[in-house]
Formats: sequence, structure tokens, C-alpha cells
Amino acid sequence: MAITLRSRREIELMRKAGSVVGNVHRKLKEMAQPGISTGELDRVAARMAKEAGSVALFKGVRSPHASVPFPGAICASVNDEVVHGIPSDKTILEEGDVLSVDYGIELNGYCGDSARTLAIGKVSDGDRHLMDVTEEVLEIAIAECRPGILWSQVAAKMEQRAKEAGLGVVRDFVGHGIGTQLHEDPRVPNYVSRELLNNDIMLAEGLVLAIEPMLNAGTASVKTLSNGWTVVTADKRSSAHFEHTVAMTGSGCEVLTLPD
Ligand code: MG
Ligand code: MG
Repeated sequence: MAITLRSRREIELMRKAGSVVGNVHRKLKEMAQPGISTGELDRVAARMAKEAGSVALFKGVRSPHASVPFPGAICASVNDEVVHGIPSDKTILEEGDVLSVDYGIELNGYCGDSARTLAIGKVSDGDRHLMDVTEEVLEIAIAECRPGILWSQVAAKMEQRAKEAGLGVVRDFVGHGIGTQLHEDPRVPNYVSRELLNNDIMLAEGLVLAIEPMLNAGTASVKTLSNGWTVVTADKRSSAHFEHTVAMTGSGCEVLTLPD
């Protein structure tokens, strides 16, 4: 495992990349209303990446499980879709849907990656609970992150909050290091496992992580649809996903994927 620590200059560049991601999320949150398609949201995200001089990183990604490269600038995962939902003009958002948008770009050689789940109109109490706790679990991680502690200590608090709220913690997908590449070492799970304890991550100034809890209303089990991309919950209940790119500082951490 090769973990790269980033200099202050590099983190400044990642903050600029992150602000493009934050600005797109702010725009898509405004637009995500009943009647709009996820294809339309995708075109706005693609256009905003270009206008900012950046490259949308998800489009064209290949998977050994899929016959076609990922076609969207965003992943748009609706309701029981966990991650890697394909945006489409045929997917029209309806009142009560929950939409997880994931988006990553590269600007001047550095990457930003962030996700959030949006309520389309008024959502059920259960889905509101799911969304709120998933966002809170990300906030718990951000509050805990500082140099000198182990990632397993952070992951334990994330997992504990999710479990006490009765939610399933997705285990098949995890956060990751990020820098000049979208996905770098280390793997950053949202739960504690023997594998993590045997390869724990000591947080240090300059470490930059994409922290991304994915929680399910029911079972943690997921499966991939026949398109090779879209991951759904095994029990067809809803899923939520919140992610920020976060840099460890001298005394705590800084979220890099905020809007201007
Ligand atoms: Mg992401
Ligand atoms: Mg990510």
C-alpha cells in the first residue's frame, strides 16, 4: 500500500478542484425537482466541468463487469440504487424519490470527489431518517479525523451510529485515498473489519481521503444489475450516500469539496 501525503500547495490545488465539485452539487440540488430527468442533471454537470476547465472523471471509466464504459459525468442512483446509477433522459424524478448524485473531476492534475443524496419533493419519514443519518455519519467522521488517530477509531464511530439508527452499512464499496488519481490507496471502509485492523491507517497531516458512507434502510447486502454498473440493495429498500474529499491538517481536517 503506497499512501501519498500531499503538500500545502497540492492541497490548495485540491481545494480548487473540490470547489468545482461543490458548485456542481449546489446547482444540481437546486434543479433536482419532480419532473426533471437524471439525464438533464448529467448534462449540466458535464457542462459545468468543461466551463471550469476541468475533466469529469466518471465518464468513460471501464469496469470488468460492464460491456460499455460508464456513460455519465454523474452517477445518479435513485431509491434502491446504491451507487453507479446511469443517468438517463428516461429516468424522470418523481415526488418522494431519493436521488444519490456522485461526481468527480480533475482540475490542473488534482481530483475532487463528492456525493450527496437529495430528496425529490417530500420523501417518506423512513427515507428522511436514512438520508439524515447518512449525512450525520459523514459529519461524525469529519469531526473525528485528525493526525495521530487510527482510521479504525473513526470507522467504529461511523458504524456505531449507523447501526444504532437501524441502518445497513454497505461493505462492498468503500472510500479511498485521492490526489492526482481519483482512487488511490488506502481503502477507507465505513466499518471495522479484521482486514482494516490488520492494515490500519494512521491519519497524518497531508493525507487526503474521500470519505463516503453508503447506508441502506434495510439489509447491507447489494447486487449489481445486468448492465454491469448499477448497484442496488438486495431487499429493494432505499439507500443513501454522502461523500466529501477531506484533507488532514496539523490539528484536524479540512473538507475540500465545498462550493465557492
Ligand atoms: Mg464519489
Ligand atoms: Mg469516491
